[in-house]
Amino acid sequence: MTTAILWFRRDLRLADNPALVEAMKAHDHVVPLYIHAPEEEGEWAPGAAGRWWLHHSLAALDTSLGAHRGSLQILHGSSLDSLRAAVEATGATAVYFNRLYEPKVIRRDKAVRKALEEDGIDVASFNASLWCEPWDIATKQDEPYRVFTPFWRNLRTRIDEVGPVEAPSPMHLAGLPTSMALDDLALLPTLDWARGFDEWTPGERGAHEMLELFADDAVGHYVEGRDLPARHGTSRMSPHLHWGEISPLQIAAGLRAHAARTKKKPDIEPYLRQLGWREFAHHLLFHFPKTPKENFNPKFNGFPWAKRDAHALRRWKQGKTGIPIVDAGMRELWATGWMHNRVRMLVASLLTKNMRQHWVLGSKWFWDTLVDADLANNALGWQWVAGSGADAAPYFRIFNPVTQSEKFDKDGAYIRRWVPELRDAPGRLVHAPWEDEAFLKASGYPRPLVDLKATRDDALTAYQASKSDRAPSADRADG
Ligand code: FAD
Repeated sequence: MTTAILWFRRDLRLADNPALVEAMKAHDHVVPLYIHAPEEEGEWAPGAAGRWWLHHSLAALDTSLGAHRGSLQILHGSSLDSLRAAVEATGATAVYFNRLYEPKVIRRDKAVRKALEEDGIDVASFNASLWCEPWDIATKQDEPYRVFTPFWRNLRTRIDEVGPVEAPSPMHLAGLPTSMALDDLALLPTLDWARGFDEWTPGERGAHEMLELFADDAVGHYVEGRDLPARHGTSRMSPHLHWGEISPLQIAAGLRAHAARTKKKPDIEPYLRQLGWREFAHHLLFHFPKTPKENFNPKFNGFPWAKRDAHALRRWKQGKTGIPIVDAGMRELWATGWMHNRVRMLVASLLTKNMRQHWVLGSKWFWDTLVDADLANNALGWQWVAGSGADAAPYFRIFNPVTQSEKFDKDGAYIRRWVPELRDAPGRLVHAPWEDEAFLKASGYPRPLVDLKATRDDALTAYQASKSDRAPSADRADG
């Protein structure tokens, strides 16, 4: 009789979980173990919204294991010490896990593997979250990709070859005498702030329900719908993907199966391409591990960021900049732990270009407040908007939040939902309430924090100056 430890991390599901399948195949008993070790992830340990999600996702995983007459075992402390303790308590001869791609986690995992192997324990790891791992795809010159389109062209040729694996059945699960209660990890916020998060259903079942909704309603209209924040035009799979409650392989297979079942035949390619951005982000993070804090493009190292402005930052975080579409986004984020992609771009543009605050200050706030906060995607998103990233938007393309709002939230439904002061704003005033002094006063909505035109001009001047003169920035963004 042999026993293995299955070390769950951000792969909180039973189906399409290769580490689980292989552990079950090779051993008589498997101990499903989650180890809470946030200090090992340093400043990129899950933020407050992420911890909320993690709590509920672990609870859901425990329920799923319950259906197989097992339960999730939980330990808190050093990963290596916890695994050694689990090995000792159960007589396990092997540890299985699925790989992650954050630089600190990779270093930790390598050290854990080495130490366990020195103890005589077999260690096996698998890919459970990407179509293609970062080291398996390269340019013709055998270099990492830095531009999305050729990366996607290459990746697209591979994704039809791979499909998800079923959850093993039956499962023979074992426990640990020292397992803790989930509540003892104290992951939930002490402030009553996450009430609005109840619209989410963390966990594997919730992920598949969300996918089904998207497949029923929106995938066929994704191209038109994905830019309209008032609509449910995107899949909202990001937190489920981040926590590994579903894999891209399952999503692609699920959408194809749904299309075949309903005979609707929607074009799922634009959506798959968007998942390709997630792969690209992981590819970049793996090959350029400093990009969560450092400019991908070193030409931006001399960019003259404005001095850190605590007052302006607070107004941005609270959704009180006086720019309606930006405030709607920031309030949606605070209330639900999520924000629509188009609006993420607009709030990031206001912060980094009109306010000229360093992009790391924004990425840190997102890190704490997004339920889908993901090191690879967040760094890519912020650097893309700031202009400093791989394949980023050219710096001079500065979003005008008023014209963007008029285009993508035409009747202001999104703004009216999140900014109640503007609920009854007539016509264009919902996008630019400062254009009518009397209305602005009566609404109680703040005056704009910045003059959009003047700050745009200033940003362009700063950019031109940074190209000719490599002056150090006025402020460092250590977050
Ligand atoms: P859909 O449109 O349904 O897309 C499906 C999936 O594709 C997403 O769940 C996501 O995994 C992936 N995806 C889509 N767009 C992108 C993209 N631009 N970059 C990388 N992956 C993408 N996404 C995160 O998951 N975590 C983050 O921390 C994060 N931070 C961001 C910060 C900024 C400033 C910006 C501009 C974007 C950020 N994104 C982040 C990317 C994107 O906004 C979200 O993935 C998307 O809004 C999630 O909603 P969805 O699942 O409905 O997306």
